[in-house]
Amino acid sequence: MVIAGERIGIDHRATFTVRNPATGEALGQLPLADTADLDRALDAAARGFALWRHASAAQRADVLQGAAALMLERKEALAWAATQEQGKTLAEARVEVMMNVELFRFYAGEVHRLYGRQLVRPTGMRSTVVHEPVGPVAAFAPWNFPLGNPGRKLAAPIAAGCSVILKAAEETPASALGVLQCLYDAGLPGDVAQAVFGDPAQVSDYLLASPVIRKLSFTGSTAIGKHLMKLAANDLKRTTMELGGHGPVLVFGDVDLEAVLDKVVPHKFRNAGQVCVAPTRFIVEDAIYDRFVAGFTQRAAAIRVGPGWHEGVQMGPMANPRRPEAMEKLVGDAVARGGRLMTGGARIGNQGCFFAPTVLADTPLDAEIMQEEPFGPVALINRYADEAAMIAEANRLPYGLAAYAWTQDYRRQRRLAAELETGMLAINTTTIGAADAPFGGVKWSGHGHEDGPEGLQACLVTKTIHEG
Ligand code: NAD
Repeated sequence: MVIAGERIGIDHRATFTVRNPATGEALGQLPLADTADLDRALDAAARGFALWRHASAAQRADVLQGAAALMLERKEALAWAATQEQGKTLAEARVEVMMNVELFRFYAGEVHRLYGRQLVRPTGMRSTVVHEPVGPVAAFAPWNFPLGNPGRKLAAPIAAGCSVILKAAEETPASALGVLQCLYDAGLPGDVAQAVFGDPAQVSDYLLASPVIRKLSFTGSTAIGKHLMKLAANDLKRTTMELGGHGPVLVFGDVDLEAVLDKVVPHKFRNAGQVCVAPTRFIVEDAIYDRFVAGFTQRAAAIRVGPGWHEGVQMGPMANPRRPEAMEKLVGDAVARGGRLMTGGARIGNQGCFFAPTVLADTPLDAEIMQEEPFGPVALINRYADEAAMIAEANRLPYGLAAYAWTQDYRRQRRLAAELETGMLAINTTTIGAADAPFGGVKWSGHGHEDGPEGLQACLVTKTIHEG
């Protein structure tokens, strides 16, 4: 852990064993915070906010630019840590480093555009609207993007002039600490950002009960998100909630099928499917359905699975033993209810958390996997008669994070953009995020945004000053 810029070792503390999910091998022991540690972190965050809220835009921008440059310099070491702790391929981990670099650079620029406004009255009276940093932020980042999630949780508050207590996932601490170290080495004062680990429920209960914390930023499951919002409500803390999804992908008969498959199949199995914006339900028009299932299955079965640091590997293991267990349960239920298992459906080998790329066709809607986010390498493909039925299926679930659509018909693209209940929509592309574009969901997928100017606004409060 790092509190007030000081590295905290194990000493008397309880520990968590960090493991490589490809081998099961222990990578190290992580100290877990006790309440004295959390009190120190809260004190540091209060001091850090008092200091950083007055830092000039140029100073904040310099730190973010400097950290981006250091991440670029340390790209291989950061990517290696992420692959060892989380399992993803080195190529995927390098992409994560670059996501952070772009985001930190973007916010370094955006800091200079935090304007207020002045309203001048004919009477001589004037009103001034200013945006101020919200205060110390408690930020909870999960393990699926071990570099990118902490990067997002740190970049916007620091750009806005807040302090942060980051609780990244216990499974992936070295990646999170590597990102934070770049900020310190770029000149961030120690009190401005802390990283703690611990029992997640204890840490969130404790931090969210403290009046020091003014905002909760959480990425994780909808169930935990609802629980944390209730804790935040006790003190009316602001919230940014990036929760689960169940990404619909609408594929219409007018597309170049092979070209679409070449894009969507690798996108489905990116990070072994453990992505909140993962494409999950492939909602395919009748006319191309059989060819789509055959082409998807053939490509999925050919994916090279192995340890993320091996040359040529396209998909790593799942991040922890809970995930293959969950896959077995969900796939078993789907098949028992009549889903057709086209490929995969089982673990690979008896070491690590490997699960085969899996394709299920014609899975009935009452199967658990058709309601619950699988968060794994399982594609669900079903057949639909027309556009209306496809839109109805896309909007059937309470989630609304990412949706995808493939069609050449310009008018249909417009209709889909209007009708789909989603925070983000990708039409004829797999790109669903960018540093300068807001990232976030609707309905049970949460509220508020990260990235883009909206991500920075989410760390600000507005004050209006009327002068006679
Ligand atoms: P989980 O729901 O217990 O944990 C998800 C994350 O939330 C973890 O990082 C965990 O440390 C944290 N967490 C759990 N309880 C918490 C609490 N009381 N206070 C603060 N943080 C808490 O389960 P899991 O097995 O780690 O992941 C399973 C599910 O979580 C997945 O199926 C997926 O739906 C969801 N998830 C979503 C994302 C995302 O990017 N939205 C990322 C990881 C996991």
